[in-house]
Amino acid sequence: MILKRADYDMNDLNQKLESFIAGLKRRNPGEQEFHQAVYEVASSIIPYIANKPIYQDMQILERLSEPDRVIIFRVCWQDDKGNIRTQRGYRVQHNNSIGPYKGGLRFHPNVTLSILKFLAFEQTFKNSLTGLPMGGAKGGSDFNPKGKSSNEVMRFCQSFMTELSRHIGPNKDVPAGDIGVGAREIGYMFGQHKRLSNEFTGILTGKGMEFGGSPIRTEATGYGTVYMMNDMLDVKGQTIEGKICLVSGSGNVAQYAIEKATQLGAKVVTMSDSSGFIYDPDGIDADKLAFIVDLKTNKRGRIKEYADEYGVEFHQGKRPWGVPCDLVFPCATQNEINGKEAATLIKNGCYAVSEGANMPTELDGIRIFQEAKIMFAPSKAANAGGVAVSGLEMSQNSTRITWKEEELQVLLRDIMKKIHDNCVEYGRESDDYVNYLKGSNIAGFIKVADAMLAYGVL
Ligand code: NDP
Repeated sequence: MILKRADYDMNDLNQKLESFIAGLKRRNPGEQEFHQAVYEVASSIIPYIANKPIYQDMQILERLSEPDRVIIFRVCWQDDKGNIRTQRGYRVQHNNSIGPYKGGLRFHPNVTLSILKFLAFEQTFKNSLTGLPMGGAKGGSDFNPKGKSSNEVMRFCQSFMTELSRHIGPNKDVPAGDIGVGAREIGYMFGQHKRLSNEFTGILTGKGMEFGGSPIRTEATGYGTVYMMNDMLDVKGQTIEGKICLVSGSGNVAQYAIEKATQLGAKVVTMSDSSGFIYDPDGIDADKLAFIVDLKTNKRGRIKEYADEYGVEFHQGKRPWGVPCDLVFPCATQNEINGKEAATLIKNGCYAVSEGANMPTELDGIRIFQEAKIMFAPSKAANAGGVAVSGLEMSQNSTRITWKEEELQVLLRDIMKKIHDNCVEYGRESDDYVNYLKGSNIAGFIKVADAMLAYGVL
């Protein structure tokens, strides 16, 4: 068979991608989530740098696929019965080319090195997209806060921070919250760092307003995810008003995505946690959301209690993707939409997805969304609002001034719009389809890559 020039180029690029990923898998055996995240970025970057030899000669993508360092440590703590418990703690400092390492801490029993490496890798591109000077990192532990008393959580957080404090600092690495790490855990960890260092410095973001927190940090990720959806719809001359939306999760990101979508006139009909999902055809209004915020933040209860309270369906052990809808906001965790579920969503009418969680759609699912040409905003763009306001919290801590809520609302809106427009600039295909995944990968890559070029070989 004689290959046409275009076919040859495509084959050549696919071969490069496959051989690059084969090398990555050899060096990082068994780290499936990390392989997946790098594959997703490399599939955009390898074609982009095909005619930019400087990035290839300087091995930028290869170097970007190796974390600067990985710190693993033992965390011992005592439970309420006096038993000694041993957990594993991590900090993956992925890349600090454009600013101090920045990224959340996750406390969840399924935390592994692979998951934290994928999150730190993604964070590097996401932070670059915000336009703020932040490098990428992620950390956490296999500690499960569920079912623990507040005293147990406090003892764990103090022990975790005792070791982590050696590796962080306001100009070095500034962690934040993530799954299982909310205001309570941040307070305990900040307090322990303050005690150890005898300094009051902004070494964490997502802090309480009494000790250096920023207005709207709590809301920022969820709000930003909805702003991204709004901006995608706007390109098509549509708005979110009146649309039926599915949300997964019922934690921080889900709660504020629901709040903003509802404020803008949408109807959100689902929410979930790891035990199943609820379906409320009348929509989750402000009063019902207040019930959920109290249930999840204060009472630490299960989503089924919503179904009991409002007499709606609870689907145990299931995800919400079989419910007919217009728009989807996955806001729980990674790999929660597979190819089959993506196909079901499209069959049932879904035409836009904005990812609040990190990497919630499997590679197969992404391919199905893109082949169907629906609007798809990947997490590194759609959930960047949280880290953007964390970056603004760092600026406020440096100047020791707290900005007004209205100012921060405007800044968040503006940053999300710029991220959207950057995705369009780098992601528009020849048939006019906006490939937001490609756009976000390239736009996030350029700034980090150019900084790495400036530093020479490090
Ligand atoms: P929370 O801990 O507040 O909430 C997590 C939610 O997801 C809970 O409803 C939880 O249910 C559910 N969940 C967690 N693991 C699973 C699982 N394996 N299967 C099904 N449901 C699960 O976390 P956040 O809302 O902060 O984070 C949600 C997602 O958003 C994560 O992917 C996170 O990385 C991402 N993100 C968060 C940011 C932030 O600012 N908080 C910023 C950017 C991204 P249950 O209670 O039963 O475990």
